Amino acid sequence: MTPSHTGDTFHNFIGGDWVPGASTLPNINPSDTRDVIGHYAQADAAQAEAAIAAARAAFPAWRQSTPQQRFDILDAVGNEILARKDELGRLLSREEGKTLPEGIGETVRAGMIFKFFAGEALRLGGEALPSVRPGVGVEVLRQPLGVVGLITPWNFPIAIPAWKIAPALACGNCVVHKPAELVPASSWALAEILSRTALQDKAFRGVFNLVIGPGSKVGHALVHSPQVDALSFTGSVPTGRRIIADCAARGAKVQAEMGGKNPLVVLDDADLAVAVNAAVQSGYFSTGQRCTASSRIIVTEGIHDRFVAAVVDKLRSLTIDHALKPGTDIGPVVDERQLAQNLKYVALAQREGGTLAWGGEAVQRETPGFYQLPALITGTDASMTINREEVFGPVASVLRVKDYEAALAAANDTEFGLSAGICTTSLKHATHFKLHAQAGMVMVNLPTAGVDYHVPFGGRKGSSYGPREQGSHAREFYTTVKTAYTFAG
Ligand code: NDP
Repeated sequence: MTPSHTGDTFHNFIGGDWVPGASTLPNINPSDTRDVIGHYAQADAAQAEAAIAAARAAFPAWRQSTPQQRFDILDAVGNEILARKDELGRLLSREEGKTLPEGIGETVRAGMIFKFFAGEALRLGGEALPSVRPGVGVEVLRQPLGVVGLITPWNFPIAIPAWKIAPALACGNCVVHKPAELVPASSWALAEILSRTALQDKAFRGVFNLVIGPGSKVGHALVHSPQVDALSFTGSVPTGRRIIADCAARGAKVQAEMGGKNPLVVLDDADLAVAVNAAVQSGYFSTGQRCTASSRIIVTEGIHDRFVAAVVDKLRSLTIDHALKPGTDIGPVVDERQLAQNLKYVALAQREGGTLAWGGEAVQRETPGFYQLPALITGTDASMTINREEVFGPVASVLRVKDYEAALAAANDTEFGLSAGICTTSLKHATHFKLHAQAGMVMVNLPTAGVDYHVPFGGRKGSSYGPREQGSHAREFYTTVKTAYTFAG
């Protein structure tokens, strides 16, 4: 096999070979912009097409692979990720800016996802039913789609690639993965692990391909190629909506996970410590850069002032610093553009009538990076931009409401519907909220972010399109069914 990297220049993986990019881009540590993690390949459209062709050529062999072969590959990848969790977690934190415990936690999750889908390869059964006609049997067979394009964002550099690559391969599809240019190192490390499995066997070369490069070229090629049967995307709303429309126009299967404006309801009867922990964990940890972050905190009147005071106390006590420094609670924002976006939304919220109760401004640390104090904005109402658009940073707003009914109405007053939470000791309100919150995931006395890896993930309304990701439900996207009728005579 060709070398995977030349010094600190890292290549793409196409058709079972490591291929230098048409150019390279430095991968910069957001905690210390002097720290260059490496120079990563920038593919052009021709390399994207080569990867798609390699995947297409490998499909006949891979679709015939046995569940045991798929299990062995995915399980080995999961085991290696888990064995190297500290090193890979550190790399992830270095390139994305989440703290080291968060980076290691995400890496462990990626390892467990590969092991889960190793098992799924063995469990991918269909159904057998008697026909309504005498002597006829009916089988519902699950079959792979062919070549799937996977486009991933920067905020979960290893977990999101894992939760797309693993089910795609488990179901017998060939893969072309395009990670976000901002965080290529974790995807590259994952590809390097995959390249040393049985996927290097002659018949399976091309089953998995990594093509690092801009969305406008590589992503565009995946979305528009007639050789790509299905596309799974996670990222922003505008990009997601365009990809959905483009895939639909050419009849390709598409799945998109996009933004959130997730509500966390805090009722008068909530346990204050539980509510503060839920708000701070899901609003600000991972620097608020999670699509499940609770960015709208909806609080009833009786607890409002105590709750706001306790959240501000907690935010004041947090350490915002270099992601790899022991004791850091919140790392930097991912890049300059995202930091500018966060600051713009904080200023706009104040111009529209909100009060900045704490934080919000950019700050300096020992190392040059994109640091920002977590922002809490109070006195907001549903019409303000801060409560309508996804910020994607450590910024949360508070809406004060009269009672549970008003809180539920405010929670659902959004074009998004990914995750929704409620903090209450009332079984009646918790049960009602679980049934009536317009979201794909509902949390009671828990942060809106932080989900298990073996159950469905996804939202409603403008947050998601297509079948759910993760857990056994992932097969709904990565397979198609065929109904077979047999007359036995
Ligand atoms: P994008 O949606 O632009 O990027 C997500 C992925 O799509 C990246 O791999 C990107 O490639 C790729 N992409 C971009 N344009 C195209 C295209 N035309 N065709 C195919 N693929 C494309 O998000 P950004 O990273 O630019 O972030 C912008 C905003 O999106 C953030 O500020 C945040 O608000 C939101 N966001 C939401 C996420 C979520 O999980 N809900 C995750 C990430 C961002 P590349 O970047 O390499 O060019």
